[in-house]
Amino acid sequence: MGSPKEMHPLLADLFKRPDLEVLTTSSTAWADIRPTYVIDNPARPLAIARPRNASEVSDFVHAARRHGVKISVRGGGHDVFGRSIAEGCLVIDMRKMKTIEIAQDRETATLGGGVLIGDVIETLASQKLTTPFGYIPTIGYAGWAMMGGYGWLAPRFGLGVDQIQRARVVTWQGDIIEADSELLKGIRGAGGNFGIVVELGIKIYPFEKAKIQATVRKYFSGYNAMTKSPFGAVSPFWYPKRDMSGWMFAVNFAWSSPDMKAGRQYLGQLAALGDAADTSLVKEMTPTELINLIVSWTPGRVYGFEACNGVSFAKVTERAADVVGEFLAKLPVDSANVLLIHEMRGPSAEPDPGSCFGARLPHSVMELVGITINPDNVKTSTQRYRELYGALHGTGDALGVTYASLTQTRDTDTSQLFGKEHQFVMDLKNKYDPEGVFDNTEPRLRP
Ligand SMILES: Cc1cc2nc3c(=O)[nH]c(=O)nc-3n(C[C@H](O)[C@H](O)[C@H](O)COP(=O)(O)OP(=O)(O)OC[C@H]3O[C@@H](n4cnc5c(N)ncnc54)[C@H](O)[C@@H]3O)c2cc1C
Repeated sequence: MGSPKEMHPLLADLFKRPDLEVLTTSSTAWADIRPTYVIDNPARPLAIARPRNASEVSDFVHAARRHGVKISVRGGGHDVFGRSIAEGCLVIDMRKMKTIEIAQDRETATLGGGVLIGDVIETLASQKLTTPFGYIPTIGYAGWAMMGGYGWLAPRFGLGVDQIQRARVVTWQGDIIEADSELLKGIRGAGGNFGIVVELGIKIYPFEKAKIQATVRKYFSGYNAMTKSPFGAVSPFWYPKRDMSGWMFAVNFAWSSPDMKAGRQYLGQLAALGDAADTSLVKEMTPTELINLIVSWTPGRVYGFEACNGVSFAKVTERAADVVGEFLAKLPVDSANVLLIHEMRGPSAEPDPGSCFGARLPHSVMELVGITINPDNVKTSTQRYRELYGALHGTGDALGVTYASLTQTRDTDTSQLFGKEHQFVMDLKNKYDPEGVFDNTEPRLRP
C-alpha cells in the first residue's frame, strides 16, 4: 500500500472501511491470493476485494463505480486464460462466499457465489446427494455452471446451466436482486455478464453407491451362467476397506495359457459382472511373483483358533450369494477377516480311483476366515463367522462333502467327506493304526 498521497482514490475510499478486506500488491497475502490456475497472465489489478456477503459485494460495486474503476470477478480462478484478473481493475474475489445449504426436500441446494466444485460435491456426497460437476474440484461452481458446465453427469442430469434454478445478483448499480426469468436465462450461458452472482440455487439428486449385496448377487449369477475356460481360474474374496468403513468384494484372476489376448477377453467378461470393476491390478506374472504378491497381503500372525470354517457348494447359488452379500453389508470386524472361494472344475473335479479324496465333483469351497489381527476382536469375529457358517448351511444348498483342511473338526462328517471311499479309509485306518497312535490327525476318523 502506498502513502495516502499516491493512493488511488478508490483505495483511499475503501481503506476507510476496516471491516472490508482489500489486498494490494504490498499486502502479505497478495502472493497467495493473486495467482490463478494459469499463473502467467501479466495483468496488474488495482486491488483484490474479498467480500464475505452480498452486502459487501454491493459496497465494492458502489465504490468502484463512484471512482470509475472496472470490476472483474474471480471464483475458483480456473479460467484457462486467467481472465478473471484484468489490468487496473478491482478484482472481486468471491472465495469467502462459500456457503452450501441443502433444502429440506433434498431437491435443491443454495450455494455461495464463490463455492468450489469439490466442496459442493463433498458436502452433497456426505448426505448421499450429488449434482453434475466439472473435472477439477478447485473450479468455481458458479464460473463453471454459468458458462455451460460440462461434466460426467451431464448425459444423465444435464449441463451445469440446467441445474441453475435461481440466482441472487448484485447489479451494476450495487442493488441486490433476485434474478427474474429473463435474467436467469442470461445467467444460464452468458455467465457473469449481467452482475455478480452472490448466491445460486441449484438442483441436486439422490446418489447411492451400488449396494454390495447387489454386486455379490450379480457376480455369482453371471459367473454361473458364463462358459468357463480351463485356463481361467477365479477366486472371489472380500476384505475390509482401508478405513474399515465397509467391505470390498473382489476377484483374484489367474490365466494359465500363453494366449494373453484370449485371457484379456475372458477377464473382460468377468469384469462386466462387477459394478465399476477395476482390472488394472491384473498383469502378467510368474507363479513366484503371484505367491509373493498374495503373501504381501497376508498377515503373518493372527488370532482366532476357532474362527475359521469351510462350506462347499456345487455352485454358489443365489441364496448363498445373498447370505454373503448380507454379511458384507454389515461393518467389518478386523482387517484379517476374509473370505475366499476356491473353485474345482476340469481335472480337479473328475473321479480318480487312485485317490480317496471325496470331493470329486465340480464345486466351490468357501473359506470363511474369521481370524483377526487384534486379539480383542476374536470373540465377536468368531461368533459372526459361526453365524455366517450357519446361514450358509441354512440355505439348504451346501454340499455334505467338505474340505477337511478348512473345516472345523466338529463340523466334519467323515462319511460325507469320503463318500463311497469311507469304508476303504476306515479299513485302512484299522490296518495301519490299530492302537490309535495317529488319532490326533485330521480328518479325525475315530471319535
Ligand atoms: C483444469 C481445468 C479443468 C476444467 N474442467 C472443466 C470441465 O470439466 N467442464 C467444464 O465445463 N469446464 C471446465 N473447465 C473450464 C472452467 O469450468 C471455466 O473456465 C470456468 O469459468 C472456471 O470458473 P472459475 O470460477 O474456477 O474461474 P474464474 O477464472 O475465477 O472465473 C471465470 C469467470 O467466471 C465468472 N464468474 C465466476 N464466478 C462468478 C460469480 N460468482 N459471479 C459472476 N461471475 C462469475 C467471471 O466472469 C470469471 O471471469 C476447466 C478448466 C480448467 C483450468
